Amino acid sequence: MSLTANQRQFNFCAGPAALPLAVLERAQLELLDWQGRGVSVMEMSHRHPAYIAMVEAAELKLRQLMNIPANYKVLFLQGGATAQFAFLPLNLLGDRGSADYIDTGIWSTKAIDAMAPYGEAKVIASSQGQNYHQVPRQEQLQLNANAAYVHYCPNETIGGLAFDYVPNTGDVPLVADMSSTILSEPIDVAQFGVIYAGAQKNIGPAGLTLVIVREDLLGQARADTPRPFNYALQAANDSMLNTPPTYSWYLAGLVFEWLLERGGISAMAQQNQIKADLLYQTIDQSRLYSNAIAVPNRSKMNVTFMLADESLNTLFLQQSEAQGLLHLKGHRSVGGMRASIYNAVPVEAIKALIAFMQDFEQRHWA
Ligand SMILES: *Cc1c(COP(=O)(O)O)cnc(C)c1O
Repeated sequence: MSLTANQRQFNFCAGPAALPLAVLERAQLELLDWQGRGVSVMEMSHRHPAYIAMVEAAELKLRQLMNIPANYKVLFLQGGATAQFAFLPLNLLGDRGSADYIDTGIWSTKAIDAMAPYGEAKVIASSQGQNYHQVPRQEQLQLNANAAYVHYCPNETIGGLAFDYVPNTGDVPLVADMSSTILSEPIDVAQFGVIYAGAQKNIGPAGLTLVIVREDLLGQARADTPRPFNYALQAANDSMLNTPPTYSWYLAGLVFEWLLERGGISAMAQQNQIKADLLYQTIDQSRLYSNAIAVPNRSKMNVTFMLADESLNTLFLQQSEAQGLLHLKGHRSVGGMRASIYNAVPVEAIKALIAFMQDFEQRHWA
């Protein structure tokens, strides 16, 4: 039994998230026989010249997409963004005892907590007082000149809260958890010391973690840093110090190719803006749905909304799922609904969701 392309549902999952249909079809086509070799790419040695050529090409595509300067290394690691919460201080603290952290929600809090065994995480600004509904302004950041780095999360996947600016941290390297926003809009990589992202939101399948690190930050890892997570060692070994997540890496390469074919990141950003605008307009014009995030800080990737009558939540989820609109339940910590609308979620999905939301409101809240 096989599912055809037109039986696929609209998937609003926060992660692991929707992948482009064209990428999945290509992977399906190549699954049993990659490049006429009679084996799957996932059955090959990562040391095989053909595999190495493929991942080198994937990195070049990413560099082209993000316009990554030559003095940055791109690492393809394992462990997820959560593992990076600990590997960051291990790699970057050097002989300094502390790093600065901006708190804008659950993921930045987890990063702060994970830092504790290695040094002091100084929370230099927090949105907690605003219920995590708006991000701190640049003037509110209590920056410490001797911090090893400043960490922040440009897009809080759970709260649906996004920065509308890149913090200026002077000479202190800026570190960004871009798990749910990477590749969604153009950024200037040169403004960052380290960018990292778990793959399963906007890059590819789970299992792969991207780390983009400025070269001068390498080489200060603590001696007890596990070797596969020592940035300098992985950079020196082209991310193949040990076996990398070979299939996820291959799929990420296909996604990079798909993005380039579709006009790159600025074309995606235009689409993403249209998608988010459509959805927030629907929410703002309705009496049933609401979003409390300050307008400039509304996430374009994770659109959260509440129903005025929470007792309708179950019905909303049942009926949306029956119409092929999947995974709209908000994170258990915030409740309500969340539509994650990453690059791979087409505008048709948004339109279908909007039609459902308006119809649901008419039937249950008119
Ligand atoms: C999903 C997510 C994480 C956690 O990623 P894992 O790969 O599960 O460790 C961390 N930060 C952000 C912003 C995320 O969206």
